[in-house]
Amino acid sequence: MWRLTEGQRRQRDEVRQWVLEHVRPLVHELDERGEYPFKVHKLLARDGLLALAAPPRDGGKAESEVSWCAYVEELAKVSGTVSLMAAYVKLAALPIMLAGTPDQRRRWVGPLIRGEILGSYALSEPHAGSDPGSLQTRAEPDGDGWVIIGEKRFIGNAGLSDIYVVFARTGGEGAHGLSAFVLDGDAPGLTVERLPTMGMPGWQLGAPRFDGVHVDRDALLGDVGDGFKIAMRTFDRSRPTVAAQAVGLGQGAIDIALDYALRRHTFGSPLLGHEGIQFKLAGMEADVAAARALAFQAATFVDEGDERMTKLASMAKLVASDTAMRVTTEAVQILGGNGYLRQFPVERMMRDAKVLQIYEGANEIQRLVIARAMSHQAQAREAIWPDCMPGSPGVATGLGPPSEEAEGDVQTGHEAESQGQHAASPA
Ligand SMILES: Cc1cc2nc3c(=O)[nH]c(=O)nc-3n(C[C@H](O)[C@H](O)[C@H](O)COP(=O)(O)OP(=O)(O)OC[C@H]3O[C@@H](n4cnc5c(N)ncnc54)[C@H](O)[C@@H]3O)c2cc1C
Repeated sequence: MWRLTEGQRRQRDEVRQWVLEHVRPLVHELDERGEYPFKVHKLLARDGLLALAAPPRDGGKAESEVSWCAYVEELAKVSGTVSLMAAYVKLAALPIMLAGTPDQRRRWVGPLIRGEILGSYALSEPHAGSDPGSLQTRAEPDGDGWVIIGEKRFIGNAGLSDIYVVFARTGGEGAHGLSAFVLDGDAPGLTVERLPTMGMPGWQLGAPRFDGVHVDRDALLGDVGDGFKIAMRTFDRSRPTVAAQAVGLGQGAIDIALDYALRRHTFGSPLLGHEGIQFKLAGMEADVAAARALAFQAATFVDEGDERMTKLASMAKLVASDTAMRVTTEAVQILGGNGYLRQFPVERMMRDAKVLQIYEGANEIQRLVIARAMSHQAQAREAIWPDCMPGSPGVATGLGPPSEEAEGDVQTGHEAESQGQHAASPA
């Protein structure tokens, strides 16, 4: 089981102080201006916090996935946007760290974690979000390299990025026809439409278009046809980060609500004196603690290279983001009218929490991943109560003969290509 070590706790406490000192004074302005906070990006880079996204092998200072999650939680307690800035450095770097050659890693990961460049992870398209196996952006051989044609949507940092990790079709239909490339942000033929959002103020979201963007041969990550596998291996390792963001938002909202409930009086006593509010806060605290345990467990599996990380990462992302949404909404309720005002940070936390249920695979897709892993687990073992199974004496088999497609699995072939479903998807 995971447990923060002395060193990890020290790092988390240092980050907590850093966030209160450097980020807290800026969040209101950040929310109102809605522009990418380059100032904060510079500070994160200057103080070595972006470097926590990569291990020493790639020039970073990451100690473990667990300490990374503890760090992201601290950022998210104060600002969802700033937690996303850090998380996104890792999301853009992960495919390169997982599939890049030493030269590619030196060329792109180092500058990303030193804050010298911004990067994007470009998988989703207007017609392919939950089902990236059906994406349509194409990469065709072009002289000594490739030419990319198509469009992406909902891409973080789009318009600001110096590099884009782009997933494009190099082969036939389906997940096996995809490859991953790294494109220059200023490549001719690349244009970006900006997309205003509900939450994560200052975060830039956009829709890049590739009208015949040429990339050299050395822009390919891994082998031709590896794209889907790279995308899914990335999600296995990035979803615990989303869970940590959710835990941070949830805990941040509880902290404000608790302080407020102690000081606000109704009916002659503090809000915190009313059992209804006590129970609400107690439930919120317990739920966030449970989500944190799951996030750290998923992070531990990543650290240990445990093949159960796919299922755990999905469970952590699902539970933590649903918890964050519920808890931030309750925090708004506890603050009453003030909770609804822009001046108070809980409504921002509520808006920020919503996207955690959507990006890196919407929560319905996490449920598909979890159910598929459960199906594999059940198939790999004997029934625990064999005498109660359909077909045993006195137990009906069910209606009609089993269909070949559905037997033994909870998904159809089409769904098996949705986010998080890959050939090597472990139980
Ligand atoms: C703020 C933000 C930032 C993002 N950043 C990035 C990024 O940087 N890079 C990137 O590549 N993408 C990014 N995304 C895209 C995100 O990953 C997709 O929006 C998400 O995967 C859902 O895809 P979709 O929007 O196309 O919804 P759809 O796939 O159209 O799904 C719509 C709804 O139907 C549900 N659904 C779909 N299929 C099923 C099914 N089989 N069973 C049950 N329910 C189903 C979904 O869960 C969802 O609720 C971002 C999105 C947002 C909002």
